[in-house]
Parts: sequence; structure tokens; C-alpha cells
Amino acid sequence: MEGEDRFEVLLTEAEIERRVREMGHEITRDYEGRDLVMVGVLKGACVFLSDLCRHVHLPVAIDFLGLSSYGDSTTTSGVVQITQDLTQSIVDRDVLVVEDIVDTGLTLHFLLENFRVRKPRSVRVCTLLHKPSNTVRDVPLDYVGFTIENRFVVGYGLDYEQRFRNLPYVGYVRTP
Ligand code: 5GP
Repeated sequence: MEGEDRFEVLLTEAEIERRVREMGHEITRDYEGRDLVMVGVLKGACVFLSDLCRHVHLPVAIDFLGLSSYGDSTTTSGVVQITQDLTQSIVDRDVLVVEDIVDTGLTLHFLLENFRVRKPRSVRVCTLLHKPSNTVRDVPLDYVGFTIENRFVVGYGLDYEQRFRNLPYVGYVRTP
């Protein structure tokens, strides 16, 4: 598509598809007989969640949470606001937070603290990507698709100035 030549492919569509299928099967095994609610963090996780949930062969519930960080867009302040809350109760239910990428861990730390007071039965985290080199807050990640280097990535839900979330692969910005 137009403008796509600025990106270098990091993870191909086929690699992502294979890994997402594996993760779905793992989640299916782990949550058999439980009351699973998959919670996607908007907007980045929407593509991953929609593929992942179709490989989870259980009667799951799906919900979304909107978050926005204060401060400028290049640095995460860790001060996060809920812009769209869950539409269902998670009391006594098994929650799986689905994230696109964990970078500093600040967003997820906030989210896990917020969920804890809502008394779910359990909370686990599933992220497509993890950039461990930027960790500020160590948060337990239960399912990780790919561990990547410290690069700004785009596609498969992740944006480049609010665009290109619809790329079917994950790429990074090519250096001229
Ligand atoms: P954290 O709080 O872990 O630093 O940030 C998590 C959020 O920052 C992600 O949900 C995502 O919205 C954004 N983010 C972090 N790294 C990247 C990246 O490489 N590309 C894009 N598009 N967003 C990122």
C-alpha cells in the first residue's frame, strides 16, 4: 500500500499466524472448564485479539478497555487514564489481558493494579510482542508471542502516527 516502502518486515504474516495459532491452543489447554474473559487493550490489540480468539476453542467472553497515557507520545509517563471501561463484571472470573506490545511495562502495571481491586478469580497477561530492553516495571507475562529488540514497530494493530494498523505483518521503520 502507499507509504509501505518505509517499513522493513520484522515478522511475516505467516510467522505471526503460526505463533498466534500456537498461543491459542496453549490458552485453550490452560483455561478448559474456566470462565474466561479476554480483555483487549485498545486500539493496538484489536487485530491480535480477533485472530487469537478464533484459535481458543472455548466459549470465551470478549471485552475491551481503552487507555490513554498522559504526556507526549514518545515517552510513556506511566500515568494512565481509562478512556473506555469494561462492559461486564470480572468478579470471580478468569481474565486474560491481551496486549499488542509491552515496552516499559508501565501501562500494564497500571492495568493490573486497577483490575486487582475488581476481585477477579485470576488475571493473566498475553502479549504479542515484548521489548525487554525497555523494562521499567517488571510485570509477569504469561504468554509472549515474540521477544523483539528495541525498535519502533508498526503493523498488525500497531500504529505509525495512527495509521498502518492494518498491515498484515509487523515491520519497523527503515533507516535511510
Ligand atoms: P508501555 O507502557 O509498556 O511502555 O507501553 C505500551 C504501549 O506503548 C503499547 O500498548 C503501544 O500502544 C505503545 N508502544 C510501545 N512500543 C511501541 C512500538 O514499538 N510501536 C508502536 N506502534 N507502539 C508502541
